[in-house]
Amino acid sequence: MKDTFKHQGMRQQLVETLIKKGIKDEAVLKAIGKIPRHLFMDSGFIDHAYVDKAFPIGADQTISQPYTVAFQTELLQINPGDKVLEIGTGSGYQCAVLIELGAKVYSIERQQELFKKTSKFLPKIGYRAKKLIFGDGYKGLPEEAPFDSIIVTAGAPFVPKPLLSQLDIGGRLVIPVGDDIQVMTLFIRKGPKEFEKHEFGEFRFVPLLEDKN
Ligand code: SAH
Repeated sequence: MKDTFKHQGMRQQLVETLIKKGIKDEAVLKAIGKIPRHLFMDSGFIDHAYVDKAFPIGADQTISQPYTVAFQTELLQINPGDKVLEIGTGSGYQCAVLIELGAKVYSIERQQELFKKTSKFLPKIGYRAKKLIFGDGYKGLPEEAPFDSIIVTAGAPFVPKPLLSQLDIGGRLVIPVGDDIQVMTLFIRKGPKEFEKHEFGEFRFVPLLEDKN
């Protein structure tokens, strides 16, 4: 569990790559420059940790591509102290980025194996989420709502209604919507029943699956 100068150097190059690809938010870039992404991956893939690519993390799941993490996080416009819900804890990398930005993070994972692994791992490297939950993200987390932001890190075939209803007024939901290819979509809650919708480019995620397992 080491973070060496070599890793730090590779991380700075990754940050440069993200800037070239259009990421501008200084706080997001700083967080990515700080978090040891190689520790979130199985040891066989450590050499790939600072390439801008998604990678397997076991249980047929992936750690999202750094560009995707940066893009989604930028859209959330996190302020320190924000209450944020993440659907799809996975490796915990996105969760660490949100914590680094000062958010109070609640994160739901439906795969028990990953849930257990990440629940142990994150605090070990100093990242404490408010709550990690083993459950079905389609339902959100009504008992902790409303949230300032909700981020979905798996491809959603449709926008789950509970997620929209668990946003605070002014809150933002960032969700990749689609079956094989997803359109990154941002919803901003303008009032009890009014939502503004913005669409961004196409991305590819592992699917958001129903129920837990
Ligand atoms: N944020 C993660 C990305 C993981 S990939 C990271 O930074 O590593 C997407 C994750 O969503 C997978 O771990 C998958 O098991 C999980 N997932 C899929 N459907 C889900 C659902 N309905 N509820 C919660 N998690 C789900």
